Parts: sequence; C-alpha cells; structure tokens
Amino acid sequence: MTPVKLHPKKALLAFVLLALMLAGGLLCFRGVELYRDVFQSSLVQKRVLPPLRAVCSAVERALQMRGDPAERAARLYRDLPIPDSLQRPLGSSADKSRLFLLCLDGASWIDVDTFGPLPNFERLRREGVWTRHDSTLLPISSCAWNAIDTGYLPEQTGVLGFQRPAAGWPPRWETISARDFAAKTLAQRLDEKGEITFTVNLLNSYPEQVKRGVLIGGWWTDPKGVFTTPPELSEALRRRGYTPLLDWQPRLRLLGLLWALWIGVTLVLLRLGWKKRRSEALVAIAVLAFLSLLFSMAYWKSNRELRSPAYRLETLLENQFYPSEQIVLRMFEQPGWRFGAVHLHEIDTLNHHRYREEETRRGCYQETDRFLGALLDRADERTLVAVVSDHGGAYYPKVFDLPAWLYAEGYLSDDPAASRAIALHEASANVGAIRLKEPSLAEEIKERLESLTDPLTGTTIVKRVVLRSELHPGPAKEQMPDLVVETDPEYMVQAYERGYWQKKFRRFKSPPVDDPLYAAQTPYGPPIKVHQDWYVGGHHAREGLFALWGPPLGKLGEVEKIPIEDIAPTLMMALDVPFPEDLPGQPHSDWFVQEFAAAHPVQKIQDPVRPAPPPVTTEVSPETLQTLEALDYLK
Ligand SMILES: [Zn+2]
Ligand SMILES: [Zn+2]
Repeated sequence: MTPVKLHPKKALLAFVLLALMLAGGLLCFRGVELYRDVFQSSLVQKRVLPPLRAVCSAVERALQMRGDPAERAARLYRDLPIPDSLQRPLGSSADKSRLFLLCLDGASWIDVDTFGPLPNFERLRREGVWTRHDSTLLPISSCAWNAIDTGYLPEQTGVLGFQRPAAGWPPRWETISARDFAAKTLAQRLDEKGEITFTVNLLNSYPEQVKRGVLIGGWWTDPKGVFTTPPELSEALRRRGYTPLLDWQPRLRLLGLLWALWIGVTLVLLRLGWKKRRSEALVAIAVLAFLSLLFSMAYWKSNRELRSPAYRLETLLENQFYPSEQIVLRMFEQPGWRFGAVHLHEIDTLNHHRYREEETRRGCYQETDRFLGALLDRADERTLVAVVSDHGGAYYPKVFDLPAWLYAEGYLSDDPAASRAIALHEASANVGAIRLKEPSLAEEIKERLESLTDPLTGTTIVKRVVLRSELHPGPAKEQMPDLVVETDPEYMVQAYERGYWQKKFRRFKSPPVDDPLYAAQTPYGPPIKVHQDWYVGGHHAREGLFALWGPPLGKLGEVEKIPIEDIAPTLMMALDVPFPEDLPGQPHSDWFVQEFAAAHPVQKIQDPVRPAPPPVTTEVSPETLQTLEALDYLK
C-alpha cells in the first residue's frame, strides 16, 4: 500500500476538523449541563444510566491493569524511609503506655452494627470500653476534630467550621487553617514535653505543629510544597503518589479510550477512506461520537453526587486509605513513639455521596475493620488503641431551608445589610445556625421556630434551639451564632445562598401541599424541600463513636454516653499529659484498671485558651477549596 500524501489544503482541513473534534469532545465534558433536562429525568436516571454504568464499571475494572490497589500500596510503601526520631528506642519513658488514635470521619456504632459482623470492631468492644458522644454544637468535621484534638469547644477556640464569620454586619467569611487555632493539640503538648508523636492526615494539622516527631499534614496542605515534619518526607511520599488532599478523582479510562478511538478512526478515515467512501466515513465518525457522548453522560456527576462509575470505592481507597494504612503500619512498628494518629475520611465521603448505597459503604467498613485488626494485632502490652469519630452519618428525606424560612418570615431580605437575620453556613446535618443584627430578636425567632409543624405529617420540625447565652464561656463565644437550630432527623438544615436552589432544584420534588412551608416563593425556594427518590446522598448525624482498648482498660464494654469534650482529657490522662484547668471536659479514669488510674493521676495546669489570631486565608490552596465545596461544606 502506497502511503497517501496529504495535500497542504487537505492537511489544513484535517487540522481544522481535528481542532473542531477536540473542542466538541471538551464541550461534551463541560457542556453536558446542556443535557441536564434529559439527563436528570427519571426515565434516564432509572432506566438508561444504570445499565450504561454497569458496562462502564465492568470495562473500568478490566482496564485497571495495575492489580489490587491494597497490594500495590503495600509494595510502594514497604521501603518508605522512616524518620530517625521514631526508630530511636524510648529512654526514660520506655515502660510508659503509648496510644494510637484511629480517627474515622463520619463513623457510627449504628453503621458498625448494620454492616457487621465486623470482627475487629467486635473485639474492640468486647475487650475494651466503648461509648457514644454528641459531637460539637455544629456536628461538622472541622470543629469536632478540633474539640477531640484539643479538648476545647468552638466557643473557646472560635473553630466552628472550615470558615468563620468575621465581625460586622452582614457577616463575611474567612477560611481558616491550623495557624488560626488558639488551642494546643494533644500531639503539640506531648511534643513540648519532648515526647515523639506521629500523626497522619489529621484535619487542621497544617502548617506543621510538631518539632520532634513525624507529622503528615491533612487538608489545607499544599500537595506540591512541604507538608510534613521532617520536610524530606514530603518528597518521599510524593514520589509514591501520596496526596494530602481528599481525592476521589475518577480515572476516566474508558472515556479516554473511547474519545481516543474516535479521534484515531477519524484520522484514519480522513487519510484513507475520505475520497472513495465519504458517507460511510461520516457515519462511522458520527456513530463513534454518539457512543462517546452517551458514555460521557454515564460518567457525568449529577447534582454533585458522585454517581459516575469511575467514582468507585476502590478509587477512593486507592488514593488515600491504603497509602495511609501502609504509612501507619510502618510507623506503628517503630519503638520510639508515644502517640500516633491517623485520620481516614472515606466513610464520611461515602456518607455524603453514597449513603443509600449500602454495599459500597459496607465495603468501606470492612476495609476499615481489616485495618483496625492489623493495629490490634501489632499492639504490645503497653499500647492502647482508641477509635473515634467526629460525628455519624444519616440520610435526610427532607431539607429545612433556613434562609428560605427567614426570607418567608421577613427576617431576611434581598439586601443582606438591611436584613435582620442571616443563616450561617450549615453543618451538613440536621443543625443550622443564625446570626442576628439585633440580638434581642433571638427569643422571638426561637419561639417561631419551635412552633413549626410539618403540614404533611403534623410533627414538630425543630427539636431544639440553643441560644448563644447558653453556651460554655470562652474567648470566642461572641463569634458564635446567636441561635443554633436542631431539627427532627427527618430534615437536614440547609443554608445556602441564593442561586443554589435554582442550580440544584432537580434534586428535590415539590409535593402539592398548599402551605407556605412547602409553597412559599422565595429566592431560596420553599422552606421545606423533599429529596427525589433517586437521591442517594446523606449527610452528618450528631452521634459519634469512641472506644478505648488495651491492657490498662477494665473490660467494661459499653459505658454511658459522654460529651465530646471528655475525649481529649481522657487521652491526656492516659499519656500523663498535664492539661489546662479551663478544659471543659473530664477524664474518665474509672474506665482504667485501678493500678493504672493510680499511676496516672490527673495533672492540671494554668494555661487558659487564648483568643484565636486573625485567620491566614492565603494558606488555603484552590484544590482544598474545591474539595470542601464538592463536599457541600463551603458556600
Ligand atoms: Zn466529619
Ligand atoms: Zn462530612
């Protein structure tokens, strides 16, 4: 076959066509919004997409040539250089107890029971002490983990969310990083005592907080910069593909293959078949383009739910869970540390995006159980293992839209500066917050909220309203919301700005109820919205879990529910860390066997929490903001 020589004009034509095709391909990725009406119709959602997704999943799985992701992580991290500080045997504290804290974002005992049998969670409960806690004022990761790490409540630290409202009216938002936190963490207190700690991926742990031990930063970390102590560890981790950001990016292998095939076939047809068989060539190009478009739809994220087949549990685990597990197991085996911790965000990510896909969530709990088992098996007689979550997860069939209600009631108007009340960002749960221009309005709004009943069910919507005056005293109390609203677990509280409703309203259906709660016309939609049946996403629930395991624990099994602020002092007591008198919680010495409790007296010091410094907003990378927005945490 003699090669066909391209005429300059034809080459130009081919080039223009190729450019058009690439632009078309890009449009299909970015412009599928145009197909939203078709895409989100229930026929497409229920009948067309599921089989397409099944095909995509099967092909994606087949294309995943690199083998089992857990085994690959084990291979990759086997020779991770371990910093000297962890390898040095402990001197004077060699016989002291040490503690490892497994932080499971969004985990609950309800899920552990639902997805059981989980043998290692069972072992933990059988041989240790376990309980529940009621998270922080707003059950959102940022402030709940801060309370667990430091022992202080939001009204003392000012950490209420991933952003905080600045002073003035209307409130402005400031994004915070670890530099803004006024209180010391348990790891920092140990570090100051000269003890060695290692923490992996803890929320709010960047910039660096320890000098001696090992710290691998969590969110807010610049993945391209230094995110570890010691600094050289960053490069070693990056080389293995580790990212400190929450990453559930799909691997668009099948799509890439289809579009590449389309471009390839088009090019070949242009060169060989164009002259003689123009119509056949056009048909082939069009058919392939249609297929690529159809599969692009199957991959498209609808309504910020990650419903594409590429957003699989395996991808989620592959990106951060397995690497974190390998890093932790390597460090856990070293002799030199007294406190270690890892934060795993996968359970919460699935709660947000796949709550009603039980099999996916079960898979994540099973992997977590396996990891927990590896830790329990490696623990020696002086090692305590603790498991904690910041809050649980739940599905909310309805949404109570706080700005819509405030608008319908005349408190919020089109001009924020002229409004009398503004809903603060939500906790992604059945809890919301309100800031008032005039604090004297608080009682009136509380009364009106508490009297709300759902015309469809006749039940009370709001369970309780907490006023700022009822909060614990602390230097950040004045920055706290005037009212915190907790609804019945049927309703998630939403507090998004204008435009969110218009963008997301297909997620909701409108029952034909002639009541202002369901029918009021506001720029935020009606105050009560009902999720469509196909919506699988869930959110946070207030109740979190806590368990302690190891020889010093009396095998008490389940104990009475504790406030979240008791967790830090209990861990501090077990690790002989003196703690400030103004910590609001109490250590639970009674959970430990008598000799241990006697040898670890509670030591209190004078070191009151300081007011938080002004936030360092420039530290937050665009990727982090994107992640937080994708999780519905940011406005
Ligand atoms: Zn969380
Ligand atoms: Zn969450």
